[in-house]
Amino acid sequence: MQAWQYVGPNQPITLNEVDEPTAASGEVVVAVRAAGICHSDVGFLDGTMTNLLGYAPITLGHEIAGLISEVGSSVTGYSVGDRVALRADLTGAGCGRHGGFQAKVATATEFLLRVPESVSWDQAAVATDAGGTAYRAVMTRGKVRTGDKVGIIGFGGLGSLGSQIARRAGAEIYVAETNLELHSAVRASGAAAVGTDIAEFADEELDVIIDFAGFGTTSAAAVETVRHGGRVVQVGLAASKGDINLQRLTVDEIELVGSLGGTNEDNVRVLDLMASGDLHSETRTIGFAEVADAVAELERGGLRARFVVMYE
Ligand SMILES: [Zn+2]
Repeated sequence: MQAWQYVGPNQPITLNEVDEPTAASGEVVVAVRAAGICHSDVGFLDGTMTNLLGYAPITLGHEIAGLISEVGSSVTGYSVGDRVALRADLTGAGCGRHGGFQAKVATATEFLLRVPESVSWDQAAVATDAGGTAYRAVMTRGKVRTGDKVGIIGFGGLGSLGSQIARRAGAEIYVAETNLELHSAVRASGAAAVGTDIAEFADEELDVIIDFAGFGTTSAAAVETVRHGGRVVQVGLAASKGDINLQRLTVDEIELVGSLGGTNEDNVRVLDLMASGDLHSETRTIGFAEVADAVAELERGGLRARFVVMYE
């Protein structure tokens, strides 16, 4: 079986021959139907996130959906042929162990999410990482409710999903995006307004602001902009520090909370939204042979759609 692997520092993603996995006790093997390529894959390869990988060489690909092809001993509740996706996790496939850029993947059942029949494989794969992260930030940590005015900082993969989720919850959306080329897409998404800096919406009394960018300056602007008693959710990790106005935080009783990834519950909600047609991620499907080219294109940047590798 062929696998696209991280093999060592300063090496490109490499096609190697590997053994097919088998299901250990408490595990299943999934025949992969779709595997998303994430910007983290670039980070694993270029050294920024390499320390998080479980071993090397290791098959990348942590946004995985497919059909169970083998069930290990002591596994209950899952059968061969079940449609599943794997919640992205540092200890899971594509980071802690071999991932989805190979046709079969072994996984512990704790990472499994059931995929409704009406959700396509490419959407199911994307739900596992960006989808769950966006859902958790908006709904679980952001507690967005009907009628809220919600600020979204950054309209990339996460931000565009986050704004769809917030709109579906009945919120009015205000987007700050520095890339002007994305503004027409923001308007088409039904946002109430779009600008380049969240501070432009200081008069709107935003109830919640979700910072998907995470440059310290965006976090600071969010704290300055949100209404008295409002909530700022920190998601993006672009900068490790920010210069926050603590007087404003105190005097206006602002909540500043972090949000990391998504739990199984968050991911199930995302799959439900996809099943009902309320959430869609823009994807570009490619063949297995094109993984290295797609990773290189992702590294060059400027892409909005997510690459998803499709298997037969
Ligand atoms: Zn990822």
